[in-house]
Amino acid sequence: MERTTYLDLLASGLAGIDAWNARFGAFEADETLQVPGEKIAKVLVELNERLHDNYPFGHPRYAGQMLKPAHPIAELAYAIAMQINPNNHALDGGPASSQMEKEVVADLARMFGYGETFLGHLTSSGTIANLEALWIARSMHPDKGIAASDQAHYTHGRMAGVVGMSFRAIPTDAHGRMDLNALEDALRSGEIGTVVATAGTTGLGSVDPIHEIIPLARRYGARVHVDAAYGGFFTLVARQAEPAIDPAPFLAIAESDSVVVDPHKHGLQPYGCGSVLFRDPAVGRFYVHNSPYTYFTSRDLHLGEISIECSRAGAAAVATWATFKCFPLEPDRGLGPILAKGRRAALAWAELLTDDERFRLVVAPELDILNFYPLPAGGAVNASAISALTEQVYQRTMDDLDDPVFLAMFVATRELLARRDPHIVWDEPAVTVLRSVLMKPEHLARVPKLHAAVVRQLGPNTATP
Ligand SMILES: *Cc1c(COP(=O)(O)O)cnc(C)c1O
Repeated sequence: MERTTYLDLLASGLAGIDAWNARFGAFEADETLQVPGEKIAKVLVELNERLHDNYPFGHPRYAGQMLKPAHPIAELAYAIAMQINPNNHALDGGPASSQMEKEVVADLARMFGYGETFLGHLTSSGTIANLEALWIARSMHPDKGIAASDQAHYTHGRMAGVVGMSFRAIPTDAHGRMDLNALEDALRSGEIGTVVATAGTTGLGSVDPIHEIIPLARRYGARVHVDAAYGGFFTLVARQAEPAIDPAPFLAIAESDSVVVDPHKHGLQPYGCGSVLFRDPAVGRFYVHNSPYTYFTSRDLHLGEISIECSRAGAAAVATWATFKCFPLEPDRGLGPILAKGRRAALAWAELLTDDERFRLVVAPELDILNFYPLPAGGAVNASAISALTEQVYQRTMDDLDDPVFLAMFVATRELLARRDPHIVWDEPAVTVLRSVLMKPEHLARVPKLHAAVVRQLGPNTATP
């Protein structure tokens, strides 16, 4: 969006709020709140300089972690809502933004195929959303534990501790997906109340076979929670006519008991905006509580009644609502095509890497996350030598002032890689590899340049093509 357009839209949005405020009569802010304009200007200059100590998350050169700025629509809506600063804890705190939250959560439920009856709300993060799902898991099965794959987000092990449940890590297969035989062994013990399946692991971007996990878990009376904090919006790609991903796990989310998706990851939102949805609204009974402070203006549902968090940014709901109006949750328009481009970028780069003997893929990418490593010279190579070359490339691509490229790193264990690459000599238990999250649609056109930038930093001590 052009800067002038952005500023014009912001000005007219703010003017609209000013006009509404004027109805209540003009008043002067108290003198204790006054700051001279020059003072603010000076602070903003310093602030701007401080902010330069950052990575250029919005630029296609940045292909490292799961980071990117929000869409300008979300920023505008958020900034306009900040003139009121609604709090979606209770309807009293923000009637309009609470209504918008219900609408965007219904959009998310529709995307996952949860039908008309469900319970859900936004959260301040995926961590809190998962915590809430695990808290319900414990409420449903107080005497049982949870199981998640050894590639699941570390939050699950930690949050199981917070809610006082046992946690079992299920081994993964050579693709980094939950191993079904190992899961069945765990289920057979009778100790698992809820299985956490991940739709897009944070490290590898691997997708657990949700469509197989659900019937298996059900056979043993276990529930299934899907952690789709990162990958949830790929459900739109799965619903495309010719999906560039395996659609089965994503379409099966419709049958899961609960799901978490982060609008602040692939939903174009600023932090913090996560969400949790439960397929059966009857879990609402676990939230029953009695608050003397809130919930008095209306008999309608207050979002705070179905959430473990109290105060939450109403602006987050407003920003998500405005964004989904412009980018609806549809396979072929709005958000779907944006995610499909990142996916195609991962496929395109994977092809370049596969054709280049100086590199190996850790796993074939399932979404838009790519893990690969450069090969040092020689037939059999030490794990430590791969890690050293990875770290060299990681640092040098970032430090190259003429053509900087920003990647991330991932620690691939021997269990994962030894099955895939028999040439590695395991002088260390794991290998550090390069990791790239291609979550911006601009990455697709950028792939040849990203690859060239990595190749340029390999140096002489590399396998020859
Ligand atoms: C990012 C992520 C989380 C944690 O979510 P936050 O919003 O960072 O708190 C949990 N699970 C998965 C799979 C993730 O990718």
